[in-house]
Amino acid sequence: MNIIAIYPGTFDPITNGHLDIISRASKLYDEVIVAVAVNRGKTPLFTLDERVELARLVTPEYSNVRVIGFDNLLVDCAQEQGANVILRGLRAVSDFEYEFQLAGMNRRLAPQLETMFLTPAEQYEFISSTMIREIAMLKGDVACFVPKKVHQRLIEKFK
Ligand code: ADP
Repeated sequence: MNIIAIYPGTFDPITNGHLDIISRASKLYDEVIVAVAVNRGKTPLFTLDERVELARLVTPEYSNVRVIGFDNLLVDCAQEQGANVILRGLRAVSDFEYEFQLAGMNRRLAPQLETMFLTPAEQYEFISSTMIREIAMLKGDVACFVPKKVHQRLIEKFK
């Protein structure tokens, strides 16, 4: 059986924490689809096209990983893509409550999809895109939290 995992998120921008999860997932599943959400609720720093482009730029070494943008319901996108697993990253206990609720809701919406969680290496546990954006906006150094290409884009954004 082909296991296709869909890894959804805002990826605003993609960080070393996200990449750690993608790298682990690429060894576990036949295919990994990084699904970048439009996210109408928030106003992202990077446009959907920029977030998709950045995610593609930093994942070329993974032959079974592909990046898409989506603006519909996650379970519908997963079905369109033929995914059987929803993959999420868990950083700390604080992520758990929201992720637990999301997994429960997605199971009600699409019982055939399993949500699976991976944890990152401990040096990535405290990285969040929100903090990266805030630090970069205030001209702090985020070089060790994001891939080089993302770092350059952040500098350009806040120039
Ligand atoms: P954020 O919460 O950073 O805005 P996203 O919406 O882009 O993140 O997150 C997509 C998925 O990646 C979520 O499951 C989130 O928990 C996970 N994730 C985000 N940052 C990390 C990290 N540093 N380590 C592991 N998983 C992460």
